[in-house]
Formats: sequence, structure tokens, C-alpha cells
Amino acid sequence: MPETRVVVVGAGVAGLSCAAELAHAGMQVTLCESAPSVGGKMRTLHVDGAAIDAGPTVMTMRWVFDALFTRCGQRLGDAVTLQPLAVLARHFWGDGSTLDLFADRRASEDAVGRFAGAAEARRFAAFCRQAAQVYRALEAPYIRAAAPSMAQLTQSMGWQGLASLTRIGPMRSLMSSLQRQLHHPKLQQLFGRYATYCGSSPWQAPATLMLIAEVEMQGVWAVQGGMAALAEALAALATSQGVDLRCATAVQRIELTGGRVSGVRLQDGSHLEADAVVFNGDPNALRQGLLGEPARAAVERTPPPRSLSAVTWAVHTATAGVALDRHNVFFDDDYASEFEAIFGTGTLPPKPTVYLCAQDRGVGKDPAPGQAERALCLVNAPARGDWPGWQEEDWQTCEDHTMKLLQRCGLRWQPQPHQMQRCTPVTFHQRFAASGGALYGQATHGWMAAFGRPGASSPIAGLFLAGGSVHPGPGVPMAALSGRQAAAALMASPALTKRCHPVATSGGTLTH
Ligand SMILES: Cc1cc2nc3c(=O)[nH]c(=O)nc-3n(C[C@H](O)[C@H](O)[C@H](O)COP(=O)(O)OP(=O)(O)OC[C@H]3O[C@@H](n4cnc5c(N)ncnc54)[C@H](O)[C@@H]3O)c2cc1C
Repeated sequence: MPETRVVVVGAGVAGLSCAAELAHAGMQVTLCESAPSVGGKMRTLHVDGAAIDAGPTVMTMRWVFDALFTRCGQRLGDAVTLQPLAVLARHFWGDGSTLDLFADRRASEDAVGRFAGAAEARRFAAFCRQAAQVYRALEAPYIRAAAPSMAQLTQSMGWQGLASLTRIGPMRSLMSSLQRQLHHPKLQQLFGRYATYCGSSPWQAPATLMLIAEVEMQGVWAVQGGMAALAEALAALATSQGVDLRCATAVQRIELTGGRVSGVRLQDGSHLEADAVVFNGDPNALRQGLLGEPARAAVERTPPPRSLSAVTWAVHTATAGVALDRHNVFFDDDYASEFEAIFGTGTLPPKPTVYLCAQDRGVGKDPAPGQAERALCLVNAPARGDWPGWQEEDWQTCEDHTMKLLQRCGLRWQPQPHQMQRCTPVTFHQRFAASGGALYGQATHGWMAAFGRPGASSPIAGLFLAGGSVHPGPGVPMAALSGRQAAAALMASPALTKRCHPVATSGGTLTH
């Protein structure tokens, strides 16, 4: 298909992956990114002279990237250095209790036994087995597949997969399922947090999201040089396949001629002709007409409920008081109130859970006492970055709650203003157009939500969608998979195939 010209709009992980796949298949691909650098939400902030990962920090499902690099004739291991983490995450509570989860399941079981008793350790082991079954049931027919309907999913899952889902009660919420499986409220809280990986509330997300426990237990990696190094590696892969990568190049409009895609208009007024366009921004931008009136038809009119946003602090300072690992979670004592505030009243939670990524730790090079270290602190927030009513004092109050919880859990640090950079839903909304600051697309609320995300193909001929807001959902590897799905849908598109002229090949076979 060398004569097929494709413009990919956005160099997030999905846009980069999609562009590499299409160029590898021989298409002429131009990748336009409005920001000065690639990666989208995978981005670095420079604070007090330190480069801090300010987007995703938990790298899972490395097989997605291994497979992408292999398909393109390269090795992921040659492009980035990934180090498996022995401790998946360290959890802290205000009463001084802590619990580590390990890559080694047995070690996790022992830790849970010490934390909550032998009977709970057995229940935890059963929970892990169930999470693994749910993952196995859904990996091929849902995660790796083009957006399936419920009927297609049940058909392709087979009786074993169906049995696994039936056992957990797929219509149950994640929290209600956890309450049946685990007795200790702190463990329910800890595993309920997996719903937030999809930007959702544990009380509204479906029980199937327990599969994230299995995903983490399959491995969490630290990327040397930060997640931005992964984005750079994907960009290098794409350009090595022939992608024309243009940063600081915003697409203003997707052009249609006769109802099908004919190109894009750039912000500088120039025009790129294309047979197909892959859009990697938030689908809400299409819905709101930011890419032109005709492209609005690519997505349903009614906006779905937004997922979580966040308030984050990229920090460079010394820490003391508690032994941090790389991934740390600090829990308050009223977990439900966090989600009632965010999804109920649309306000910042008075008792937020705090995630702290201590980016210099976990890979054998922990900072010396008193030495400044790099950290990203994150609390969940409502995706209302487009609401004009926010005041500075709202963010300040949120910061006070966050710092107080960290202090109560034993962390001692005193970052000075020049050692800290804050991002809010407003910042994220400004950076990711029309998102309201939602970082994970639409909320996965209700058991049908997984079928509500747009798929790779849109109703507009030649226009395809990729990204964390699209099937199979948010997260770095999932967005990369959506890029692959968009590439596959584009290559299989009858509208594009028809545009190729019939060619007589030697041997007399007439092909397209
Ligand atoms: C603070 C934070 C923490 C997170 N933590 C994790 C984590 O630990 N693990 C994990 O797996 N995931 C995490 N996520 C989610 C993960 O980052 C996202 O799901 C994923 O990166 C989304 O990728 P994407 O392909 O959808 O593109 P995005 O990253 O959303 O990028 C889209 C790109 O398109 C560009 N674009 C949009 N419109 C245009 C236009 N008109 N013209 C040109 N360019 C355009 C944008 O500038 C942007 O660069 C986190 C996200 C954030 C922000």
C-alpha cells in the first residue's frame, strides 16, 4: 500500500505505535504532534534541575512493546533499559501499618499473612487465582481484539472464560466483589484502588477490573531514563520505519471530500493530503467540533461520563521518616468519601489517597539520607478542568490535605516552592484539548461501560481513532494496543482498498 498516505494526529503512545505499524506496512505516514516533543501524557517536567516523570510511572504488559518492536524487526531491549521491580508497591496507612506487594506471589502471600492473618492470606491467594482467570478469559477476546460487542465477546470467550466471569458476578462492582472475597478493610481498599487505573470509582467499576491485579503480578518495570525514554524509543522506531514525524505541528481541521477523509489543515494554514487520518487526541475534541464541523460525526453526540483527573506535584527534595520504595500509596481512613466527592459533588476529595512515585528508588540506587530525590505525588480529582470557578485556594487546600496525610503516615519532607511543580485538572485540560483534564478517557462505570468506548473505526470513511479513550482503554500498554487496532482497521478498510488500482502481476493473477 505504498501509495496510501496517512496522517496520524498526535504522538501519544497510541499515535506513535500506530504510525510505526502503518509505516512498517509500507504506507506513507506523517505524524503531527502539537507539543514540542512526543509522548503526550508521558512527559517530563524539569524541577530544580531534575527531570521528573510527570505522567504515567507504572509500566506493565511489556509484551505489548516487545511484540511491536519485533514486528518492526527491532528489539525493545536494545531501545530502552527496563528493570523488573521486586516490590510492586508499598502501602502506608495513618495508623503506622504498611504492606508491600511483591512480584513474587508467594512473598505477597506471606506479607498478607503477616498483615492480616493466615485465613486472609488464603483468601488473598484465591483472589489472585480469580484475577488470573478473569485476565485469561478477557485477554484474547477483549484486550487484544477489536472493540467487541457483548454478544461477540461471550461467543469468543468459550465456556471456560464464561464460567470464570460468571463466578465473579460480572455485574457486581469491584468493591462489592472485593468485600465478598477479602475480609480485611485495608485489603479491600488496596485492591479497590485498581479501579482508579482506569480512572474510575471502585464502587462503580465492574468486578472484572480485578484483572489489573494479575497484570501487575505479571510484572512492573522501571524504565531507565523515565517513561519519556519509552516515548523517545517509540518515536525512533517510527522514524526508522519511514514515519515523517513533525512536532510543534498542530492539526486544526480534518478535511472531508464527498463524505470521506481527504487530508488535514495545519495550524499554520498549510494542507496535507491524506487517504486516511488516525486521530490520537481525546474523542471529545472531535465531538466539540475542534477538528472541524464535519469530523463531529466520527463519535456519538452525547459525551460519556469523564474518568478521573488528578492534582500532581513533581517534587525534588530530600525525604525521611519512612522507607519509601519506588511506588508508594498512602491511604486515609474514609476511602468512600474520596469517590463521593469526585464523582458525586465534583469536588476535590477532603481525604485523598496519595500515590507517590519515588523515581530514584527500587533499582538499587536509592538516594543517600539527606540527598534530594525525584518524586511525583498524585491525588485523584474530578475532571472539571474546563470549569471556570476554580480558585487558587482550592488547590492549596488539596495540597494541605495531601501533605497532612503524608505526614500522618510518617513521611518527613519540606519541599520549597522552587522544588515543586503542581499540575491540576485545569493544566491537564489546557494540555489535552476538550478532556476537562480526564486522564483515562471515559469512566468505566457499570458493567456495560467496557463496551461503550469507541472502537478504532469511525462512521467517517478514512477516519480512525486511537488512544486511551478508545478500546481497549487507558494506560500506556492499552493505548499502544489501540494504536495497533487502528492500524489494523485502516489496513483492512474496504474504502482504502478500493482506492488501489488493480495490478496485473507476473503469473497472471489479478490482485488489488
Ligand atoms: C499523571 C498521570 C499518571 C498516569 N499514570 C499511569 C500509569 O502509571 N500507568 C499507565 O499505564 N498509565 C498511566 N496514565 C495514563 C496514560 O498516560 C495514558 O492512558 C496514555 O499515555 C494515553 O496515551 P494516548 O495514546 O491516548 O495519548 P495522549 O498521551 O493523550 O497523547 C495524545 C497526543 O495527541 C496530541 N494532539 C491532540 N490533538 C492534536 C492536534 N489537533 N494536533 C496535533 N496533536 C494533537 C496531544 O498533544 C498529545 O500529545 C497516567 C496519566 C497521567 C496524566
